[in-house]
Amino acid sequence: MSSSEFQDPPPPPSEESQSKKAAKKEAAKLEKLRRRQELAAATSAASNLSVDDDPLAGNYGDVPLVELQSKTPVDVSDWTRVEALDASLADRAVQIRGRAQTIRPVGKKMAFLVVRENGFTVQCLVQAQPDVVSPQMVKFAAALNRESIIDVVGVVSVPAAPIKGATQQVEIQVRKLYCVGRAVPTLPINLEDAARSDVEVEKALQAGDQLVRVNQDTRLNFRVLDLRTPANQGIFRIQSHVGNAFRQFLLKENFVEIHTPKLIAGSSEGGAAVFRLDYKGQPACLAQSPQLHKQMSICGDFGRVFEIGPVFRAEDSFTHRHLCEFTGLDVEMEIKKHYFEVMDVVDKLFVAMFDSLNQNCKKDLEAVGCQYPFEPLKYLRNTLRLTYEEGIQMLKEAGVEIEPFGDLNTEAERKLGKLVLEKYGTEFYILHRYPLAVRPFYTMPCYDNPAYTNSFDVFIRGEEIISGAQRIHVPDFLEERAAACGIEVSTISTYIDSFRYGAPPHGGFGVGLERVVMLFCGLDNIRKTSLYPRDPKRIAP
Ligand code: ATP
Repeated sequence: MSSSEFQDPPPPPSEESQSKKAAKKEAAKLEKLRRRQELAAATSAASNLSVDDDPLAGNYGDVPLVELQSKTPVDVSDWTRVEALDASLADRAVQIRGRAQTIRPVGKKMAFLVVRENGFTVQCLVQAQPDVVSPQMVKFAAALNRESIIDVVGVVSVPAAPIKGATQQVEIQVRKLYCVGRAVPTLPINLEDAARSDVEVEKALQAGDQLVRVNQDTRLNFRVLDLRTPANQGIFRIQSHVGNAFRQFLLKENFVEIHTPKLIAGSSEGGAAVFRLDYKGQPACLAQSPQLHKQMSICGDFGRVFEIGPVFRAEDSFTHRHLCEFTGLDVEMEIKKHYFEVMDVVDKLFVAMFDSLNQNCKKDLEAVGCQYPFEPLKYLRNTLRLTYEEGIQMLKEAGVEIEPFGDLNTEAERKLGKLVLEKYGTEFYILHRYPLAVRPFYTMPCYDNPAYTNSFDVFIRGEEIISGAQRIHVPDFLEERAAACGIEVSTISTYIDSFRYGAPPHGGFGVGLERVVMLFCGLDNIRKTSLYPRDPKRIAP
């Protein structure tokens, strides 16, 4: 409405009644106009709310850097974890820190925040109240960027109705609100999109809705955000548990944890899959495994050793299960008589690890399954052992022809996994007595047939997670086998020499940590279980 309209004179009266009616109408018109102008003025005042005019300005705002430079030590026991927020804290004042997962303003006087910490979420209400919460504070809350780190001080209340959008069934009535680490207004990945399962996307598509699907490369480019999804939080907590279960089990069995060098003179175990480098003018490479040094440590009298460390492979193939850097879980041990002693360790260790994962990582496994549905792993109390020949026979009977002294390709391994599951009801088994031709030079041949070796591979859901064997501890024999495999013996002379000073019979195995997690959780790609994967095309972030 224009100001000229406001200033229009009333129409001239014709008859008295008519003029009264017109005057009434005009008064109503003016009143309506006055109210509209008042509202506009109030709205404009609200949007110009200034912190300077707010006596409660100390209760909210961006924390200045100087306060975050370790200026004031505090008692952190005064802080409550979001996970611990429940009805027992009703009416109590609490202080939490987390991410502003969602921010929902409701008019000018109210805003809801959902704060997330370690996967747990709580709803917080910022509501204007005289002398307690100013409209400026509500405005500050509403303008926060998602994923910013915030401190919330407030009082716990228990709403009558269940809270749908948060894990914790209490609400915090916010009294103070500070931003400690501001996120940019537009994130490269929306967390809701990154956390969505393919099933959800498909369902929505059938209902005519197109939801965003975040592809793998985008996820890995912005891995820091991607890692915040519940499934990824689950995956890397499971990974931590696998490493921990491995370490704890072996320590109890009298193994010693060792750390072998990753910078190796010469060419490690040889072959093309080596990252070569210049070591102060000498040719060197990154270790392809701790194989040689863990065996040398057995010669150094540690009896039973293990290592958890990085392994480097300059893989050329771009597959779902190969990385250029992965975490090796390695074991080496003296044996008395038979390589079955090594397989016994594998059996007990992995059954204990799977039990422990199922018992202690329920929430994490559920979080993974929510986004990437999978069936729990089927495994026996005593792990099934089949010889390579038996495996080949099973495949043959199923119509798959395999060269008896060759290796199994990925397809054949998967097929055998299916046959084993049907026949023995397990997705975890050991295949042993592999042909000599497909094993490394240091593998001990079988006493009864030198075309086979005292070696084994272990499978989860039809894919290899472990390779192991009895090793050759007789130096001349080792030298002979190395030469036969085309290895320049002089490049590994210190390794071979370590067996010349008296060496016990021994064996061991190597496990890929990322593969164990991938296959235990039925995931389709090893990049999902590597924190910052390195593959032939990726070395960042
Ligand atoms: P594959 O036949 O699958 O290429 P490999 O026979 O080369 O494996 P080993 O050298 O025996 O494997 O390594 C022992 C274990 O390390 C494997 O069983 C697997 O779990 C893991 N591993 C091997 N290579 C890779 C890789 N490039 N990326 C991730 N894990 C790997």
